[in-house]
Amino acid sequence: MYLIIGASLAGAKAAQTLREEGYTGRLVMVGEETVRPYERPPLSKGYLSGKEPQEKAFVHDAGWYSEHDVELILGRRATHLDTAAHTVTLDGVDELHYEKLLLATGSRVRTLDLPGMDNHGIRYLRTMDEAEALLASLRTGGNVVVIGAGWIGLEVAAAAREHGCTVSVVEAAPLPLHNVLGNELGAVFRDLHEAHGVTFHFEAAVRGIGGAGGRVSDVVLDDNTEIPADLVVIGVGIRPATELAETAGLAVDDGVLTDASLRTADPDVYACGDVARFLSPTVGERIRVEHWSNALNGGPAAARSMLGQPVAYDRVPYFFTDQYDLGMEYAGWVPPRGYDRVVFRGDPSIVDGKAPEFLAFWTKGGRVLAGMNVNVWDVQDQIQALVRTGYAGGTVDLDRLADPSVPLESLVE
Ligand SMILES: Cc1cc2nc3c(=O)[nH]c(=O)nc-3n(C[C@H](O)[C@H](O)[C@H](O)COP(=O)(O)OP(=O)(O)OC[C@H]3O[C@@H](n4cnc5c(N)ncnc54)[C@H](O)[C@@H]3O)c2cc1C
Repeated sequence: MYLIIGASLAGAKAAQTLREEGYTGRLVMVGEETVRPYERPPLSKGYLSGKEPQEKAFVHDAGWYSEHDVELILGRRATHLDTAAHTVTLDGVDELHYEKLLLATGSRVRTLDLPGMDNHGIRYLRTMDEAEALLASLRTGGNVVVIGAGWIGLEVAAAAREHGCTVSVVEAAPLPLHNVLGNELGAVFRDLHEAHGVTFHFEAAVRGIGGAGGRVSDVVLDDNTEIPADLVVIGVGIRPATELAETAGLAVDDGVLTDASLRTADPDVYACGDVARFLSPTVGERIRVEHWSNALNGGPAAARSMLGQPVAYDRVPYFFTDQYDLGMEYAGWVPPRGYDRVVFRGDPSIVDGKAPEFLAFWTKGGRVLAGMNVNVWDVQDQIQALVRTGYAGGTVDLDRLADPSVPLESLVE
């Protein structure tokens, strides 16, 4: 039996590929959520803004699993893995015996332990249930305080503004997305949100959540600022769900360690999606990518690997976001402060509240490590080719990179 733990995008895509590639044996997928696998990006975008139905988020129709003879066990948690016995225990009770196992356990939100967290009106956003509850709260309007100006915090801020809420964002760093994008692009996202009426509190620490009658009333910062709040949304990042791998003593270091074929040190255990820290042939080191496309593509890659096919999972890390009228794609890999210059192609200024159209490239010593296209489309192939060239040691002329009249493909060696 092939067993997949984690019934979300990575797991569902792996199951689909196993069947497409001709695996006819017993195939079981276990997930602790009670709904069938779905994609999370809409939960902070189309669904949260009230424009898209929940149904659009599901990976497969409800009937797909039985039609493809995939046993979907929902609402159960895998609590123990014994790699020697080839068993996984569910909820400390039932044992499943596997031939090959795929860990697709994804991530869990980081939680905050602050005074006042017992008040009603404090929310996180990871699951469909949480998105449903958050949407209902946003529809009632009022003062929303978002803690954390990462991707989720900013997308929630945008959705809350679209619902007419008053929105404040509290962030420890001096800019939004500071660690992932740096100063230059952090400033673009700050300007975008300010143009849409969001108030930021940067370099701020939350001392506690104030309450009245059991409900949140305000968020208190270290400098005694009190921000009125009817709703507090916490988006301070995630951590990989490595607990199950740890019960088996598999190597874990901010993710389950795998080789480029997404196989762990145990030849019958694989990992993919948010939970995997895999050896990236392009980047040349182990990386963990907590983004949609890595679940979409990593699941199928792991499935092929489980079937004994030669696999080198070599996707350029890719991410997208939508906030207000700004649509963006990003490809590449830049460690915090790992670049020396951002090159813009086009003007990133927000004029009259309108999102700009531009490209940006993170470069080091003339090598392109990552690129972003903002409201410019059909350039991902070229950007990813530049990133691959950069990681292979190739440099580009940065003046030509900035010049919109120079075709990007002409810069690729
Ligand atoms: C609101 C939101 C918006 C996002 N927007 C974007 C976006 O715009 N662009 C982008 O690139 N990425 C986005 N992401 C990130 C993207 O959704 C994740 O990278 C993706 O969901 C990872 O998929 P996964 O299958 O690896 O893991 P997950 O989606 O985390 O799923 C793992 C599943 O495994 C289950 N599980 C864990 N442990 C166990 C266990 N022991 N037993 C049983 N089940 C278990 C979990 O309950 C969960 O259902 C967003 C994420 C969120 C939350």
